[in-house]
This record gives sequence, C-alpha cells and structure tokens, in this order.
Amino acid sequence: MNSSKIDILCLTEIEIKEIITAPPYSQPSYRAKQIFEWLHRGAKFDEMSNLPLSLRAQLKETCIIKTPKIERKLTSADKTIKYLFRLYDGEHVEGVLMNYEYGKTICVSSQVGCRMGCRFCASTLAGKVRNLSASEILGQVLAAQKDISKSVNNSKNAGGAPRISGVVMMGIGEPLDNFDETVRFLQLLSAPGGLNIGLRHVSVSTCGIVPRIYELAELGLPVTLSISLHAATDAKRSRIMPINRRYGIDELLLACRDYFDKTGRRISFEYALIEGENDTISDANNLAKLLKQYMGSEGERPFHVNLIPLNKVRETGLSGSRTTSVRAFASALKAQGVNVTIRRKLGSDIDASCGQLRIAAEQMAKKERAKIYNNSNK
Ligand code: SAH
Repeated sequence: MNSSKIDILCLTEIEIKEIITAPPYSQPSYRAKQIFEWLHRGAKFDEMSNLPLSLRAQLKETCIIKTPKIERKLTSADKTIKYLFRLYDGEHVEGVLMNYEYGKTICVSSQVGCRMGCRFCASTLAGKVRNLSASEILGQVLAAQKDISKSVNNSKNAGGAPRISGVVMMGIGEPLDNFDETVRFLQLLSAPGGLNIGLRHVSVSTCGIVPRIYELAELGLPVTLSISLHAATDAKRSRIMPINRRYGIDELLLACRDYFDKTGRRISFEYALIEGENDTISDANNLAKLLKQYMGSEGERPFHVNLIPLNKVRETGLSGSRTTSVRAFASALKAQGVNVTIRRKLGSDIDASCGQLRIAAEQMAKKERAKIYNNSNK
C-alpha cells in the first residue's frame, strides 16, 4: 500500500543517505547523491539508469515518488500555462507557470482546498481537504519543469529547455497553515543537488497567520513574505477575511516589521480591488497611511503594494474594480510615496483564478462516480 511506503521526494540528500546505507539497502553512500539528483529531475525509479537494476526494483518496492500528474493543461495567448495536477490519492490542485522578462515563475498550491474562508476566493469554497506534503509541493515544480523541457525537446529547439527560476506560494491553500511542509519544501527547492532555486526568488503568501510569521522570521530564510492585506481597516478586513477576527491589522503589521528586521527582506502587500468594497480613494489613503505608520515613511522598512483587480468568482458575488478605479487607486498611493504595481493579469483568457479548475474537476469526478453508482444499481 502507498501509505506504508517511504515518501522519498520529501527527504533531503542526507536523509536518503541514512536510509540507503543501512539494511535492507546497504548501499554505498554515493548512491544517495545519485538518487537525490534523479528525483529532482523528475525521474521515475525505472529511469535512474546509473543505479543497479536490483536497487531500482528495491526502491520501487519500498518507496513512492509523489510527483503530481498533469491531468489538464491550458495555455493562454501570452504563454501562461495553467496546470491541473492529480495527486496520488486522486485529489486535485492547480499550478500556474508565468513568463516574465526575467524568467519563468511557477505558482504552486500548498493544500487541497483551504480553511481560511476569505470571501472572494474560490479555493476555500468547499473548505480544506488535506495538507500537501513537501514532495507534492515540490512535485508541482518538477512536473512543470519536465513538461516545458519535453516541449522544447520535441520542437528541437537548440537553445535547450528554459529553467523555472522563481516560485510563488500563491496557489490553492494557506502555506503557513501547513508550516512544516512549507519549510521543508523551501529547503528541498533550494538544495544544490536539486533545482537549486535561490530563496530570494521565492515568495510565501499568507492571509496573516501571525504566530507563523514570527516563526518564519526566526528561520531567517531569505524568502519574500507576501501579505494578502486587501483592506486597510479592521472593520473592512474582518468582513472579507475571517482570519482578521483572530489576528487584527495591528498585530499583523507588527509581525511584518519583525519579519523585515530579522530577514532584511522587503515585504510585499497584496491588495485585490473589489468593486464597492475596498476600492475608493479614501480606501487608498487609509492604506497609504497605515503602511507608512507601521513600516515607516522614509523607507526604513521597504515595502511594495501589488494591486490586482479581483478575478470574478461566480459563487462569491463579488466583482473586480473597473480599470479607471484601479488606476485612480494606484495614483493615490503613488502620490503618497508608496511603491505600487498594478499586477499584469497574465493568462486572463484561460482565467479561472486559482481554485476554479479544481472545483470543476471535483464536480466532474462526482458526476462520474454518480454515473458508476447508478449503473451498478440498475
Ligand atoms: N492563502 C495564501 C495564498 C493563496 S491565495 C494567501 O492568502 O495569501 C494567493 C493570492 O490570491 C492572495 O493574495 C489571495 O488573497 C488572492 N486571491 C484569492 N482569490 C482571488 C480572486 N478571486 N481575485 C484576485 N486575487 C485573489
């Protein structure tokens, strides 16, 4: 059974070494490096061609590689790719591969579903099913890397496959609600024998689980912390984000200050503009005042605001602000010296903001199950 097998893609090279040098494997320690490198290239045991056949068979028997399978793939006109991944137990998550001038960045999921309950978000509509393991989070990056490498090989492009050089944890789930696996994932992602992606090119996005922000700061990893703020007053924020009733804006921004002080990393604030909810000039002024109050107006603690018009999720009844409101909001922030970017909407033609493909897949699976059930009862 899967459950009794070793989840080998979760392990560091040192941990693999400890296991395979001991019985029943009793291998020389250099095998650990070979296995680790193969795993992080997305290989299956059968493909690990410099390992003895007997060891490959033994690994296959005792270990499982939890790389998600690509079940659907949507490519937009701007070459953004949206993946629907199927996990080993049949659950689904999503990932999005984006092309920026400076390289390819993938957005990965950290949980199946989410229990944070943000009112505008598709990922949380049906609650949380389970956490992803570090191997399943890393596996999304490996599967996408393998997929783009394959496409390049097929097209006989002499330049070689482009590498994924950045990761954002902004897919389905709340990474800080799955803290240990998130940290292990970051460790594996940046391992020299693996993808070796520098943590400066990684963002961890959170709705604001304050104690975990302090814990992350203690680790001193150079990841960018992205805060999904979306409102500048407790009254407004609590209305759209239940987490705010537990940890208010004051506590959250004090944690951000601490994060900067411990890591020296500029904080990024995400602000989704929702029509009629948080998108007036007075909201922009409140936001500028708030951030300057906590982070300093003279650039003591640098920060950045990312504005994004809300992607419409039918079930929530909320809509994104009009372009004119988005521009006016950005100008008001700029006028007060706030660093702000209107996030380019990549892949808007394949849209489905995170969580929507998964919902569709679950609904289809449910229908299939119902069909099978009905047929077997006829
Ligand atoms: N749980 C984490 C990460 C996942 S959500 C977090 O809350 O940050 C990634 C980002 O997408 C967050 O900023 C989230 O607030 C935002 N988001 C969710 N639904 C959205 C929607 N419909 N339109 C635009 N942004 C959305």
